Amino acid sequence: MIRLARLRFSHFVSSLPFLLGGMVAARLPVLNEFFISLFNVLPTLLLLLGGAFCMVYGRQREVVLLALLYIGYFLLDIQVDHFREHGQVRSDAVLVFHLICLLLPALYTLYGCWQERSHLLQDLFARALVLLAVGAVALGLARRYPQGIADWLVQVHWPALHGSWMSLAQLSYGMFLVAFIALLVQYLRLPRPLHAAQLVGLLGLLWMLPQVFILPHALQVMSSMVMLVLVAAVAHEAYQMAFRDELTGLPGRRALNERLQRLGRDYVIVMVDVDHFKKFNDTHGHDVGDQVLRLVASLLRKVGGGGKAYRYGGEEFTLLFPGKSLEQCMPHMEAVRLAIEQYRMQLRDKQNRPRDDRQGKQHRTGKSANEVSVTVSMGAAERQAQQRRPQEVIKEADNALYSAKAAGRNCIRSAAQRRGAVRVVVDGD
Ligand code: GH3
Ligand code: MG
Ligand code: MG
Repeated sequence: MIRLARLRFSHFVSSLPFLLGGMVAARLPVLNEFFISLFNVLPTLLLLLGGAFCMVYGRQREVVLLALLYIGYFLLDIQVDHFREHGQVRSDAVLVFHLICLLLPALYTLYGCWQERSHLLQDLFARALVLLAVGAVALGLARRYPQGIADWLVQVHWPALHGSWMSLAQLSYGMFLVAFIALLVQYLRLPRPLHAAQLVGLLGLLWMLPQVFILPHALQVMSSMVMLVLVAAVAHEAYQMAFRDELTGLPGRRALNERLQRLGRDYVIVMVDVDHFKKFNDTHGHDVGDQVLRLVASLLRKVGGGGKAYRYGGEEFTLLFPGKSLEQCMPHMEAVRLAIEQYRMQLRDKQNRPRDDRQGKQHRTGKSANEVSVTVSMGAAERQAQQRRPQEVIKEADNALYSAKAAGRNCIRSAAQRRGAVRVVVDGD
């Protein structure tokens, strides 16, 4: 089921600024020498460097999209150069321009929705073959019937749908609409930065094409930006792969290690461990176990007091409170512990699914035998003056976690309590 709630702003963070920046830069009446030279070489640089980068990450789809955008840029650049030099368009300008306005969104969407196959070379070969075939057919037809094709492209096919604001041919607006819907559906089905970037890139093309003969830098600037949007999205996903935990969506161990390098003098580290989770897995199965880990992660993510949750590994999580004392964090840790304890998760596997609505309602009102719940134990440690490395604080928090387990689980113990220095006891009983 496609849900609008899946639309995430963070997926657009790596692409929208480039699009907006490009639109502003392309509108500037004068660009200084440096930027003119930069934008003259940027599409070629992005094709080479960006293409190589995408290949390293096995993103053939983006390699071909970059090549497609570059071909579009190259063909239009010939037309625009001629127009600038001679003050009038080439004789084939109408045909070439409108053909590009139709084929670019069409092929962009075809490649954008064409999921990668595992075999890199076969996949690249198939994509290149389609590009060559479409190119050859278009070229053949355009050579044979230049006037007929040009007339067909610019013709108003549906007068009732025509708007005076349309500066491209009606057909190409139709193609952009189809392209937008296809890429939007793809994004909503599989929300990820790359799919968001493809949508943003399409909007960039739609903005650019009517301006190529009007704004002096629109073609170079926007072609560069659309290519950059795709490369940035590949980099964004590479970052996510390295730093995000796939199951829970929380930042993972590597992200925690990075963050630990940049902590100030005062901070609190809390180790969180799901109680009797092995038994839970054995009873309900690994899939339900995974769902529970996702649920625990989503509740930990909501921790207040400036805390941030990480998945440490397995069924262990870490809460990090930079710039805070143990006393300040305790109520927030307790709130999360209690929220996890009180949460009832409804099992919705196929065998247990209610057969009719009335049964389903009963399940949701909480009397069902299919409900499960878990508890967590927490061990907290505040950085002491003599502790130089965060790993020492983690060790203390780990020891406090053992104490919490020994104390009967579903409770919080601190390193200070272990040392007997401060008596802060907050437990679940
Ligand atoms: P304790 O209360 O002492 O922590 O007991 P426990 O059973 O939770 O402790 P233990 O560390 O022995 O078991 C952890 C279990 O967590 C073992 C493993 O099957 C399960 N586990 C670790 N990672 C995952 C995961 O990603 N998904 C699922 N479903 N289970 C996991
Ligand atoms: Mg454990
Ligand atoms: Mg455990």
